[in-house]
Amino acid sequence: MAAGAGADGRSGGDPGGRATARRDGKATVAFPCPGCGAGRELGMSTIECASVAPTACRCGMLTTLRADALVAGAVVACPACGEAMLYQQKDFRQAVGCLVVLVAAVLAPFTWYLSLGVAALVDLVLYRLSGQVVICYRIPCKAHIRGVPAGPKVGAFDLSIHDYYRMLARREAAGLTGPDDQTGPPLDARSHP
Ligand SMILES: [Zn+2]
Ligand SMILES: [Zn+2]
Repeated sequence: MAAGAGADGRSGGDPGGRATARRDGKATVAFPCPGCGAGRELGMSTIECASVAPTACRCGMLTTLRADALVAGAVVACPACGEAMLYQQKDFRQAVGCLVVLVAAVLAPFTWYLSLGVAALVDLVLYRLSGQVVICYRIPCKAHIRGVPAGPKVGAFDLSIHDYYRMLARREAAGLTGPDDQTGPPLDARSHP
């Protein structure tokens, strides 16, 4: 689903397929706290106002959003961890989509199975209406950045890049740093169209 959504990410309704500002104008980044892993969501206005004061998590861990994550109003790096490898996809809540299908399946015997068709339509509309989200490849960061246009190098989801970061995460868990000898950095990734 992620790959499919990503592939369609560049053919959205807005020119260039970039993420557009949310209707409420709020730009946010959601990421796990590096200290305790709790989900946090910070407004990106702190970056735009150039006041990058760190904000504390419940656990006391301070997180300063990176000022260089935005260039000319577009996101070019992860504001939470600084990673430059990002991808974008439709901000479609799969949980909501699954719930719609589940309800339709339960109702199916009572609706001559028409509810399944309706559910498919509802999911399609929800998918069309959802905006873009930019996601950090780094594990476990995987920050979700909403309400900010994606920079020029932010492409669709790429499984090979994702696998590279999975390998990195495994090595970091084992106390190693950097890629192994066989696997270099995601080669052409930084010139991702
Ligand atoms: Zn924390
Ligand atoms: Zn990140």
